[in-house]
Amino acid sequence: MVRLAHPVPAVEEVALDEAAGRVLAVDVAADRDSPALDRSARDGYAVRATDVPGELAVIGEVRAGERFPGTVGPGQAVEIMTGAPVPAGADAVVMVEDTDPGDGRVRIHRGVQPGQAMNRRGSEAGAGEIVLRAGTRIGYAGIAALAAFGHSRVAIYRRPTVAIVATGDEIVEVEEPPAEHQIRNSNAHSLAAQVTRAGGAPVILPLARDTVEHTRQMVSRGFASDLLLISGGVSAGKYDVVEAVLAGFGAEFYFDRVLIQPGQPLVFGRASGKFFFGLPGNPSATMVTFEIFARAALELIGGQAETELAMPWARLTREFRHRPGLTRFLPALLSSDSAEVTPVEWHGSGDIPALARANAFLVADPARDVYAAGEWIRVMLQ
Ligand code: AMP
Ligand code: MG
Repeated sequence: MVRLAHPVPAVEEVALDEAAGRVLAVDVAADRDSPALDRSARDGYAVRATDVPGELAVIGEVRAGERFPGTVGPGQAVEIMTGAPVPAGADAVVMVEDTDPGDGRVRIHRGVQPGQAMNRRGSEAGAGEIVLRAGTRIGYAGIAALAAFGHSRVAIYRRPTVAIVATGDEIVEVEEPPAEHQIRNSNAHSLAAQVTRAGGAPVILPLARDTVEHTRQMVSRGFASDLLLISGGVSAGKYDVVEAVLAGFGAEFYFDRVLIQPGQPLVFGRASGKFFFGLPGNPSATMVTFEIFARAALELIGGQAETELAMPWARLTREFRHRPGLTRFLPALLSSDSAEVTPVEWHGSGDIPALARANAFLVADPARDVYAAGEWIRVMLQ
């Protein structure tokens, strides 16, 4: 749906060292062959492959950053260092471990294929070849490619702004002292952290009271952003007014329920030309539904060609049971090498201390209820 809407974000330019984590706005091509000439991949001797095995006359040396002025003729070799240009006439490099050097000569024990231990000009990329596509989120290897091909400034997409409206008469802002029956607004802030991590710029709006009028005001302000996230108020209760408010803006609704837990009531749609999500208010439900649904939309709105959601497999350290029927996301601790996962004891989807002790969610299959210790299970990183 979001892809079909073809959002094209505005483009801005930043210095190379500010581009990591941002989304590239243009295709980047190699500005010259890579490597720009035949280059040695080893310390050793540049030779003519037809001359070895055998004993060759060493006619000179070439280091990285130099060019050998002569040509390697029959029966000749040039001592060469890793990264140095392979001299004219030579078509292979023999690594020093396979040689017996001595007094202006070198004995080479083994035959070699042409091209051995060298990187041919243009073998990595030809001049003009695309090395990074628009829509790629730039990682450190992408930074290396941008640097290698001369981009000290980089065209990237502007971060999409994401309005966050938390609803609920029982909710107070973090700075306010809560009465016993009140809860601090954690969702707006956990969502802001998730938005930032997904490449968006969060805009936290004031809490919306559970009235149509006040929620309408905040939602209306939220439509000024590129994406609107609302927390709470999407269940079937008497004071869950979010869907009615959105309908009042002429919203198209694409779905209002998903088969996961936590997170069943989840509203996704579009109004005033902007996509919105009505996320359930229980903290773990807000977190999980953002990761599974809203994050992908945000990444696409931010110009990413592909969305990211890693769900690797890990082995359970102990038996684990859940109620089948829905895909369930339960807090868990993934070992530092991501190989093993342990369920974290918790007391339901509002248990923020358990979520904070965890660093991942177990993703439990709706079709099974028991996993034995040592079995593989999917995990979603926190
Ligand atoms: P709701 O989806 O509005 O029915 O909210 C469900 C429950 O989630 C509420 O009873 C609160 O306990 C909790 N909750 C809702 N909004 C927030 C919020 N902004 N921060 C923390 N917890 C919340
Ligand atoms: Mg509520």
